[in-house]
Amino acid sequence: MPLRPLPEPVVHVGPGYVPPVDVRNERQICGADSHHKVLELDPRTGWVLPHWFCKRHVDHAERVAEQVREQNAAAPEPIPNRGGLLPAYFKVPWEDVYRHYAPANWKPPSYGLSADDWPDPGNPPPALLGAVVAGVIQHRTARTTRAEARDDHRRDKELEAVTAFAAAVAGHRRTMAVREGLQLDGASDEAFAEARAASHTSRSAIEAPKVLVSILVPSLTPAAEEAMRAVLALRGATDKATLDALREDAITAADRFVTAAPRHFA
Ligand SMILES: [Zn+2]
Repeated sequence: MPLRPLPEPVVHVGPGYVPPVDVRNERQICGADSHHKVLELDPRTGWVLPHWFCKRHVDHAERVAEQVREQNAAAPEPIPNRGGLLPAYFKVPWEDVYRHYAPANWKPPSYGLSADDWPDPGNPPPALLGAVVAGVIQHRTARTTRAEARDDHRRDKELEAVTAFAAAVAGHRRTMAVREGLQLDGASDEAFAEARAASHTSRSAIEAPKVLVSILVPSLTPAAEEAMRAVLALRGATDKATLDALREDAITAADRFVTAAPRHFA
């Protein structure tokens, strides 16, 4: 009995076919699900960088763990990269405050409570006025060309003016709220006079950064003007509810200024 002829072979690719570059082959990543985690601590900042390995490549996990052992032992405590803003702007016995509300095992961080005291981890800088800085860093990492790098100095000056203005406005908002609150409470003349003097100081502290903003970052002038107007409006509130509402408005206006800033630095 004759055998049935074999079917024609099926050719799926042409003779000149070259498989596309697969990043997993190219970089020798096996692509299996990760299972073993090795943590590397940045020797400069103490920040954690995880490395993952699959079950089949446990030997690599062990090799890398051995490689980073010494580095990890010598790494500094991680530099904080969030929080610390209230102590940067308001003088209060913060340690007592935190101790009161935190769990019993809370210890003050070794780098201090205020973001101003933290060491600069290089890039990114510590969180000062989170929104402005975070926005700028995002754009900064995206920028690479030299022409743009030349603008960095000016950009730093602008950023300095913007953060100084935002901080000064926040300071004046606080002293004005205190002063108007005392007025409404019918506080003693002496207490009110002191609060008024503080408000005059914080008021004049706004002037220089405001001028700088209007010169260096004219596109932010309207938002700055609005933030300033909202703070000055706290003056002469007729009752507590009005004062609270005006304070809320002032905070909103200041937030609007801060969120407008990263758009300028884009
Ligand atoms: Zn693997």
